[in-house]
Amino acid sequence: MILIVDDNQSNLYSLKKLLESKDFQVDTADSGEVALGKALKNDYALIILDVQMPDMDGFEVAETLAGYSKTKEVPIIFLSAVNTEKRFITRGYASGGKDYVTKPVDPEILMLKVKTFYSLQEQNLAMKKAQQSLELEVKGRRESQVTMKSQIDHFHLMLESLPQIAFTLNEEGVIDFVNGKWYEYSQSEKQFPETHPDDFNIKEELQRCGKKGTALELEVRIKKTESGKYRYHLLRVTPVYDGDSIKNWVGTFTDIDDQKKVEKEKDEFLSIASHELKTPLTSIKAYVQLLERKLKLDKESAEAGFVTKVQDQIEKLNTLITDLLDVSKIENGKLKINKKPTNLESVISNAIDTILQTHDENRVKIKRDGIKPDILIPLDEIRIEQVLINFLTNAIKYSPKNNQIIVTTFVDEEEQEVKVNVTDFGIGIPDFKQEAVFRKFYRVEESSLQFQGMGIGLFICSEIIKQHHGSIGVSSKVDEGSTFYFTLPLN
Ligand code: ADP
Repeated sequence: MILIVDDNQSNLYSLKKLLESKDFQVDTADSGEVALGKALKNDYALIILDVQMPDMDGFEVAETLAGYSKTKEVPIIFLSAVNTEKRFITRGYASGGKDYVTKPVDPEILMLKVKTFYSLQEQNLAMKKAQQSLELEVKGRRESQVTMKSQIDHFHLMLESLPQIAFTLNEEGVIDFVNGKWYEYSQSEKQFPETHPDDFNIKEELQRCGKKGTALELEVRIKKTESGKYRYHLLRVTPVYDGDSIKNWVGTFTDIDDQKKVEKEKDEFLSIASHELKTPLTSIKAYVQLLERKLKLDKESAEAGFVTKVQDQIEKLNTLITDLLDVSKIENGKLKINKKPTNLESVISNAIDTILQTHDENRVKIKRDGIKPDILIPLDEIRIEQVLINFLTNAIKYSPKNNQIIVTTFVDEEEQEVKVNVTDFGIGIPDFKQEAVFRKFYRVEESSLQFQGMGIGLFICSEIIKQHHGSIGVSSKVDEGSTFYFTLPLN
């Protein structure tokens, strides 16, 4: 907006009309005092100021405007009818004016000057605005840097108070913070604690997770600097995401050495107990078979029924002991897998047949779905059948109100793998417990009282599949059912 200041109303009027005809917004003042008041209140891009005015002349107005920070930058064009002397013009410039136009005003010259000053002032204002917003941004950034620093300090303080070894890595995976506990296992804050030669290499495992952007969970033995003794630790390193990219990583080592020792003793006991139980059981089995043959019982007689029942129970006991033996084999790294090119379809149909033979036909309905993988895959026939029988037995056991089971297979050429699903419509498993069912001795609490079991079947299955370099998992909904699956590489 442009402010015109003139004590002569007709001058004011004609100038106003002239500028408005060129689309400028115009404000007017008929005295120096009024002009000062308006200039302090409003923002003007240009002031056209008459020099000769009663009370306060144009120079005084310009000098006063130059004294206020709000108005000192506003360009002024003086209008004067008389004084074209050098002295007079000099005073005009000295008082803060930017240009000088004599009366009678040549409209074209005035318009040219107005346009120039107006656009200059507009640019000036825009630059000022940009500078202000830049200053604001810099201030904001400085403030957020300060809050971030105090947040990081607070976070480090928290890590310092943990009973575990704690550390953070930057986005490149380089250590940038360690807490005091770190130094019990490492002499330098830049170096990870030394791991046992038989365990995984931490750096390599971290690089692998860094590429995938996933968390790392690893049991490793690390060496105490003072005693030189190794202690089992659970290492957990979790990525912290900022949008799609990893900002940094937070890691802890939790001492699980005592727990590991107790577990080892328990495993040893299990191993001895299951071995010791196996021998008499094998004898009992053999003698019952002998007895059955010698007695030549009538199949319909009650005695024959009793013998069958004894044999069934022996079979159950045998499965339990074999499972326990498998667990101890896994613990000792002795679960051997004998892979041979095998037709997976025949393994699946054998497993289904075994289940159908040992269960009441009305209790179990197994449907075979999907493309039957009539191909040879390198696998251990007995062990994969064991996995399938385990999935199927669980599907029956945990579906007391539904007898339908579906076995589906898919061949994924792209991934070069085959997937086998066993679906039931039983009690299902709550979301947060689904991963845990593959752990040793884990049983879902809600169902553990109603259904018998030891919680080791799926643990053995996952070890068998792991040794085949496949994957195992479950998707499930409570009261709707579960789908247990495993995949095997085609080669
Ligand atoms: P077990 O059946 O002897 O307890 P498993 O290792 O085979 O041991 O299974 C572990 C746990 O997983 C079971 O105790 C049960 O809670 C849950 N589970 C396994 N299969 C199913 C299923 N098909 N439906 C619902 N829960 C299941």
